[in-house]
Amino acid sequence: MGMDSDSRAEGGLLARLADACETTDVLNGRRDDLLALIEQLFGRTPIMLNGFDRQRRCILWNHQCERAFGWRTDEVMAHPDPLALFYPDVTEYQDVVAGLASHDGSRFQEWTPRTRDGRRLTTLWANVVLPGGDRLCIGHDITEQREAEKHRRLAASVFESSYDAIMITDAEQRICDVNAAFTRITGYHREEVLDLTPGMLGTAQRNAEAYEAICQHLETHHNWKGEIIGQRRNGETYPLLLSASVVRDDQGQRLHYVATFSDITLLKRHQEELHRLARHDVLTELPNRRHFAERLEAALPRARRDETLLAVCFLDLDGFKPINDRLGHAAGDQVLITVSQRLRHAIRANDVLARLGGDEFALLLGDLDSQDECLQVVERIHDLIGRPIPLDDSLVKTSSSIGITLFPHDDSEAEILLRHADQAMYRAKRSGKNRHCLFDARHYQEEHHSRRRLDRLEQALCGDEFLLHYQPRVDLRRGEACGLEALLRWQHPEHGLLEPADFLPQLLGSRLESPLGDWVIERILDQLEQWRHQGLALRIGFNASANDLALPEFAERLTRALARHPGLDGRMLEIEFQESAAMDDQQAVSRALQHCRDMGLRVALDDFGTGYSSLSHLRELPIDILKIDKRFVAAMLDDDRDTALVQGILQIGARLGLDVIAEGIESPAHGERLLQLGGSLAQGYAIAHPMPAEQVLPWLERWPASGWHSRRP
Ligand code: C2E
Ligand code: MG
Ligand code: MG
Repeated sequence: MGMDSDSRAEGGLLARLADACETTDVLNGRRDDLLALIEQLFGRTPIMLNGFDRQRRCILWNHQCERAFGWRTDEVMAHPDPLALFYPDVTEYQDVVAGLASHDGSRFQEWTPRTRDGRRLTTLWANVVLPGGDRLCIGHDITEQREAEKHRRLAASVFESSYDAIMITDAEQRICDVNAAFTRITGYHREEVLDLTPGMLGTAQRNAEAYEAICQHLETHHNWKGEIIGQRRNGETYPLLLSASVVRDDQGQRLHYVATFSDITLLKRHQEELHRLARHDVLTELPNRRHFAERLEAALPRARRDETLLAVCFLDLDGFKPINDRLGHAAGDQVLITVSQRLRHAIRANDVLARLGGDEFALLLGDLDSQDECLQVVERIHDLIGRPIPLDDSLVKTSSSIGITLFPHDDSEAEILLRHADQAMYRAKRSGKNRHCLFDARHYQEEHHSRRRLDRLEQALCGDEFLLHYQPRVDLRRGEACGLEALLRWQHPEHGLLEPADFLPQLLGSRLESPLGDWVIERILDQLEQWRHQGLALRIGFNASANDLALPEFAERLTRALARHPGLDGRMLEIEFQESAAMDDQQAVSRALQHCRDMGLRVALDDFGTGYSSLSHLRELPIDILKIDKRFVAAMLDDDRDTALVQGILQIGARLGLDVIAEGIESPAHGERLLQLGGSLAQGYAIAHPMPAEQVLPWLERWPASGWHSRRP
C-alpha cells in the first residue's frame, strides 16, 4: 500500500485510523466505528485474509478463507495448531513450518494446503509480520487458474505434437492456425497459409465437388469424415484421411472449423498390396482364380456387344505330380514358373492368364474372329509347354491337356464357362493327354443324363427295387431239376418289371457294379436259407460281372458273405461268368474262380461260343460247366452248321469232363434235338420262364408230371 503520507495528509483512511487511535474518545462510539470498519475490511473482502500469533495459533480467519478451506472461523481459532489442519502430512507440515520462518513477506509465495475435504488448493500468500510478532497473511486461491492453464498447455502440446495435421479456420473458413504436422504433410509453413482458405490444400482445385460436398455437409451436421486427394506445396498429390468439424458457441453460432488429417499414402499402398495379393498367385505372380473370374465376368458383356468370340481355356499339366514327387517342390515350382512365362508369351497383351492352383491354369482369349484363331493359340501353347524345361542340373519334359469353350457358342455364365472348359480338359486327359478338347454341349448332356440314370439306379439298389427271378435248369434225360439260375429284375415304380437289357448296360462298369454283385449274392443266400427250411436243396447259379470278378477283393467278399450264413456252404452255389474284355486280366479272373472252387462253388462259362470265346480259356480257367449260347441252340433246328457247333461243344465238354448246359430251349423240338445230339442239361422257356421265388416250389412239384414242354409261370 503506497499511500502513507499522502493519504494521511489528505485525511485518508490511515489518517482516520491514526486519528482514532490518538483520541481519548477511543473507548466510545468512534472505537466501535473503527472496529466495524476493520471487521468489514478484513471479514468481508473477497480476498483471503488470516493471521497467526507467534505460537502459530490463528487470530484471524476471514469469510473468504472459510469459503476456500471449508473450515469455520471458530474451528480454526479453537485449534491449538491449525497449520496441521491444512498439512495433515507430517513431513509436509514440517517443511511448511520451516518455510514460514524464511518467508519473505514482501512477495507472494505459492503454498498448496489442503481443504477440509482433502482437496489441494493452489494459493499465493504474502505474510506481513506485525510489530508484536503476529503475522497477517493475504492470499489468493489460484487453483482454477492453474487448472485452466494446465489444460491450455496440454491442448497446445497436443496441437503441436500431434502426428496428424490440424488446421483451424475462423467462421469464414480462413485459416487461423495450423500445427507442425500440417507443415510436414503439406509442405506449407504456418505463415504461408494464415488467412487462406482450405482450398489451397489442393482439394478444391482437384475436386471442387468433393470440397463443396464437405462444406455442405458441415452446414447441417457436426462433422465430416472421409478420404480425399490433396496436393502438397511441391505439386505432388496424395491421399488423405480428413475429419472436419464445426465449433459453435452456446448460441449455435459458428466460431471455427477444425480439420485434422493424415497422409494415408502408405496405408493405401499397403491396401493395394493386400488387394493385389488377394487376387494374385504368389508363386507365379499371375492372377488367381478370383481375379480370373472377375475379368471373365467383365469380358462377357463386352464380347456380346462387340459380337466377337471369346475362348475360355482350362489347362492342366500332364505328369506334373511325378516331377514334384521325384525332384522336389523347388523343382516343381520352377516348372510352374517357366510354364507361366511361356504361356504369357503365347497370348496377347489383352488376354488373361491365371493360375487356378496346383498345375492348373486358365486362359481368357478375347477378340477372336474364329474358332481357328483360338486353336492356333492353343497349338502354340502345346508347342511351348512341350519344350524341355531346364532345372538346376537337369531337363524335364511335360505337356498340357487343354479344355476349351467358346463364348457365345456356349452361352453360359462366367462360372459355368470355366467349368465347361474344365470338363473339356478332363476329356482331353482321358483321351490320352497332350491334346485339347472343345467343350461339346451334346456330349456334356449325355454324360449328364447317364450320371442321372446311374444315380437313379443307385437309388433303386438302396431302395430294394431290385429282385431276383429264378429259372430252373433240368436234366432232360433223367427228367429232374438240377438247379436254378438267379436272374436280375427291376420292379420300376413307373415302368413295371424291367429285364437286365433295360438297365444292366448302364450299371456294368460303373461304381455300382460291385455293390450290385454283393446284393445278388446276399439275396441268393437268404433265399437258399429259406428254401432249406422248406426242404428244398437246389443249387443256385448267379451271374458275376467280369469286371467284378477281376477285382482282387471279389473272393474275399464272397467268403465274408458265406460266413454270414453258417448253415450254408459254397456247394449250393454256382458262379456264371462270360468271357469278355475283362478277361485281359486272365490271371486275376482265374485266381478268383479258383478261390470260388475252393469254397465249393461250381464254375460255369456262360454264353459259350460268342464274344471273346477262346478255346484256350477252357484249358486255362478252372471251369466245371459250359453253357452253350442260346443263339446256337435256337438255330440248331434249321441250320446244320449250328447243329454241328452244338454237337462239337457237347463233345468238347465230354472230353474235358465238363457239364454242358444248353440255354434257350424254346420248344420241345429243341429239347428232342439236344437229346439226339447227346446233350441232356437244358434251360429255356420250353421248360420254364424265369419266375419269382415263391413260384419255384409249386413249379417243382408239377414238373415233369405233364412233360417238359413250354409252360409259362
Ligand atoms: P444269361 O446269364 O445268359 O441268362 C439267360 C438269359 O436268357 C436270361 O435273360 C433268360 O431270361 C433268357 N432266357 C432263358 N430261357 C430263354 C429262352 O428259351 N429263350 C430266350 N430267348 N431267352 C431265354 P435275362 O434274364 O434277360 O438276362 C439277360 C442277361 O443279363 C443274363 O444272361 C446275364 O448275362 C445278365 N444277368 C442277369 N442277371 C444278372 C445278375 O444278377 N448279374 C449280372 N452281372 N448279370 C445278370
Ligand atoms: Mg447266366
Ligand atoms: Mg447265358
